[in-house]
Amino acid sequence: MNKQESMQKAEAAMLHVYNRFPVVFERGEGVHLYDTDGKEYLDFASGIGVMAFGYHDAEYNQALKDQIDCLTHTSNLYYHPPMIAAAEKVCRVSGMDRVFFTNSGAEAVEGALKTAKKYAYLRDGFAGHEIIAMEHSFHGRTVGALSVTGTDHYREPFLPLMDGVRFAQFNDLDSVKAQVTDRTCAIILETIQGEGGLYPARAEFLQGVRTLCDEQDILLILDEIQCGMGRSGAMFAWQNYGVKPDIMTCAKALGAGVPVGAFVMTEHVAEHSLAPGDHGTTYGGNPLVCAAVAKTIDMMESRRITDHVASLTPYLEQVLDRFVQQYEFVRGRRGMGLMQGLELDASVAVGTVVSNALTQGLVILSAGGNVLRFLPPLVITQEDIDDMATRLEAVFSEIIS
Ligand SMILES: *Cc1c(COP(=O)(O)O)cnc(C)c1O
Repeated sequence: MNKQESMQKAEAAMLHVYNRFPVVFERGEGVHLYDTDGKEYLDFASGIGVMAFGYHDAEYNQALKDQIDCLTHTSNLYYHPPMIAAAEKVCRVSGMDRVFFTNSGAEAVEGALKTAKKYAYLRDGFAGHEIIAMEHSFHGRTVGALSVTGTDHYREPFLPLMDGVRFAQFNDLDSVKAQVTDRTCAIILETIQGEGGLYPARAEFLQGVRTLCDEQDILLILDEIQCGMGRSGAMFAWQNYGVKPDIMTCAKALGAGVPVGAFVMTEHVAEHSLAPGDHGTTYGGNPLVCAAVAKTIDMMESRRITDHVASLTPYLEQVLDRFVQQYEFVRGRRGMGLMQGLELDASVAVGTVVSNALTQGLVILSAGGNVLRFLPPLVITQEDIDDMATRLEAVFSEIIS
């Protein structure tokens, strides 16, 4: 089947909720993807921050193959060894205490919101609590997660969403304080806003929110779904700030290629929130995905991924800053670690750049606010960054010519 036929068949049978790029990926090797025509692409998107180790990693793949031959599903009515290994490792690397595995990021957010509501319900003896979320945030597409997502065009057709959500400005502590009421039970934010345009939390802001939460017994939920798992140069981005959440959400690179998420909390929150009967999932944390989580954390440690990210980041920043200097339409760079963005001015549509980059064999992403988003596999090297720069240079010089 040729590419056109493949695309037509997909469009005939699948719900049209994505304007997909005209490429049919067939396989991956290291930091490269190959389409059905055999064309090679350098991957600086990692499937939206999922493929931390790139593609076809022998150690990772073998762990999954072994688990498939052993056991893939039991339901959550029983224990299984990968669940125990994965839970223990997530708690150890986060310094948090209790984890619930989900099938996606959005579900992790749902669980975090339920946890916060139950915590406040038990404390106060009544329901009806409020959550503060941030403008330009992104927490997922399910109704609860959408309720705390501060982007109107995602929300509007689905109103009314979950009640009791107030929005504040990210990186503006006063605007958060202004939304606090005696019913506030949680503040949810991304440590580094991803979809919203690659905005890291400022240290004073995050520390201020933490203090505010401590003073008023409000739970701090940090969404680490995109910025977590080594991408910032620490295992979790909040570990760069000396600020610890009460609840953290995790997904994307948590299983480095299988659908798994988690919400993780402190012992104090766990003891005073969800109890048997309050929450569940049939698939969540099944043996296959837990084997992937356990292997992912093992490999992040044995390969010193956070050190690698931290030491490579200045080079990536330098290369991206060169584009800022060189091209007038590139307004600036933002981000942390291997989660970086170049903001383009209105004269150049980021969608066009992403599309032209694919033609040049470079897979990159966009983000809100006309931002070109770089989320490479965490195992990239300086040579890969140079290669990316060469391919992007070709795209940019075409634009100005
Ligand atoms: C991707 C993302 C989500 C949603 O995850 P899904 O697995 O797509 O449901 C939530 N929060 C953040 C910060 C994300 O980047």
